[in-house]
Amino acid sequence: MSNIVDRLTDVVGTDRILSSSTISERVTSFWNDTPMRGTALVFPQTTEEVARILECCNRENQPVITHGGLTNCVAAAEPAAGDVIVSLEKMNRIIEIDAIGGTAIVEAGAILQNVQEAVAEQGLRFPLDLGARGSCTIGGNISTNAGGINVLRYGMMRNLVLGLEAVLADGTIISSMNRMLKNNAGYDLKQLFIGTEGTLGIVTRAVLRLFPQPASRHSALVAMRDFEDVSRFLLTLQKQLAGSLCAFEIMWGDYYAAVTDDGGHRAPLSRDYPFYVVFEAEGSDPDSDSRRFELVLENALADSLIVDAVIPKSEAESRQVWNIREEFDAILEPEPVYLYDVSLPIREMASYVENVKANVRNRWPNGCCYTIGHVADGNLHFFVAPNEEGDFHDDSDACVYEPLAEVGGSVSAEHGIGTEKIKWLPHSRSETEINLMRVMKQSIDPNNILNPGRVLAPGGH
Ligand SMILES: Cc1cc2nc3c(=O)[nH]c(=O)nc-3n(C[C@H](O)[C@H](O)[C@H](O)COP(=O)(O)OP(=O)(O)OC[C@H]3O[C@@H](n4cnc5c(N)ncnc54)[C@H](O)[C@@H]3O)c2cc1C
Repeated sequence: MSNIVDRLTDVVGTDRILSSSTISERVTSFWNDTPMRGTALVFPQTTEEVARILECCNRENQPVITHGGLTNCVAAAEPAAGDVIVSLEKMNRIIEIDAIGGTAIVEAGAILQNVQEAVAEQGLRFPLDLGARGSCTIGGNISTNAGGINVLRYGMMRNLVLGLEAVLADGTIISSMNRMLKNNAGYDLKQLFIGTEGTLGIVTRAVLRLFPQPASRHSALVAMRDFEDVSRFLLTLQKQLAGSLCAFEIMWGDYYAAVTDDGGHRAPLSRDYPFYVVFEAEGSDPDSDSRRFELVLENALADSLIVDAVIPKSEAESRQVWNIREEFDAILEPEPVYLYDVSLPIREMASYVENVKANVRNRWPNGCCYTIGHVADGNLHFFVAPNEEGDFHDDSDACVYEPLAEVGGSVSAEHGIGTEKIKWLPHSRSETEINLMRVMKQSIDPNNILNPGRVLAPGGH
C-alpha cells in the first residue's frame, strides 16, 4: 500500500476507502462505461475529514479528483490511474429547512431530486431542475453552475446559492454560510467555488434559496412551422403569461422524430413538424391560471403561430411529454455521438443551426445532428452522430464551433469546460481573462492538486 493510501486510511478508516482494484468495478461516469481508475477512492463524512484528506494530499502533491453524481457532460471527473478520488456520496444530509427564511442547508453530496422532494413536503420549491435530477448532487450543481429548464424564471445555480462552505487545497475550511439575500460585506467568496468546476476547492455544504411551491403548474407541447414563429411565440408567452412562464424548451423536428421512433417515446403530436416546444407556467390560482393558459394557446392557434398543441391532463401525462425532451437514449447509439452545449443570441439560432447541420452532412454522408435547447436562455444542445465508426471528435468540434465564432457565441452555456473543451476555451474567453483565471488558480491551489487539467490547459493555451 502506498504512503498516501495509508494516510487516507488513517483519516476515514478502512470502511470508507476503496483501492484501485475495487474502484475498477465502478463505471467512469454516466457517459463513459469503461472501468473507473484511481489509486484510492475515499468517502468522507464530515467537512473536517475532507480538510484532513486535502491536507495529506497537498503535502504530497497528490492530484485529487472530486466526485458528485458523475453526470457532467465534459469529462470533468474522469480520474487517471494515479489520482485520489474524493466522493461526496456519504455527505448527503438535508440539515435544515427554514420556511420563513426561504432557505435550506444541505450537504454537498445531497441528490438534487431528494432536496426538491424534501422541501416540497413543506410547501416549498427548490427550482433548479434538469434531466439528471435523480443522480446529480448539489455540490456538482454548484461546481458546474448548472442551468436546466427553469433558468428563464429562477436563474442558474449561482442565483440559488446564498452561502456555502468549502475546503481549500491545503485543508483550510472556508465557511461562508450566509443566509441573507443581501450581504455586501466585502468580497462574495462563495463565487470562487460556483462554476469553477472543483478547481479551487471542494464544496461541502450550501445554503440554498427556496421559493413557495406554486399552486398550479401547466405545461403544453406545441408544434411550429418555422423558427421565427418559435421566437414570436416565446415573446407572446412572456407578455401574456407575465412572469409565470418558467420553462420553454425547443426540439428540432429530427430530434422529436428520432426519440419517438419505434420503441421510443409515444408521440402525442404528429412526427413531421419542423419544430416543437414544450413549455410550462406556474401560478397561484389553479382555476384562473388554467383558463388563461388555455386562452393563450387558443389565440396562438388562431393566429397560426402554432400549428398543433397538446395539453397534458395529469401529472403522469405531463411527465410523458417532458420525457420526450429529457430522455434521449435512442439517439446515443450507434457510438460515437458527440454532445454540445453552446449559447448564442436567439436571433442567430436558425441560421447557425442550419450551418452546423450542413457541416455535419458535408463531413459524413450518413451523419445526423439532433438539436434541442433552452431557447429562452440562448442555449442549444447538439448531438452529432457521424454514423460511422471511428474517433471524429475534432472534426465534430469544428462543425459546431467554427460557425459559432461568427455569431459571438460561447462554447459552454451550462456544462462547463472540464477536459473536453479545454482547447476551445480561448474561443469564448480572451487571453487576459484566461491569465486572470490562472492567477486565481495559482494563488489558491499552488501545487495544482485540485482537479488538475480541468478548465485550464496544463501548459497554457
Ligand atoms: C440526462 C442529463 C441531463 C442533463 N441536463 C443538464 C441541464 O439541463 N443543465 C445543466 O447545466 N447540466 C445538465 N446535465 C449535466 C450535469 O447533470 C450537471 O453538470 C450537474 O450539475 C453535475 O452534477 P454532478 O453531481 O453529477 O457532478 P459531477 O459530474 O460528479 O462533477 C461535475 C464537476 O464538479 C466537480 N464537483 C462535484 N462535486 C463537487 C464538490 N462537492 N465540490 C467541488 N467540486 C465538485 C467535479 O470534480 C466535476 O468537475 C445533464 C446531465 C445528464 C446526464
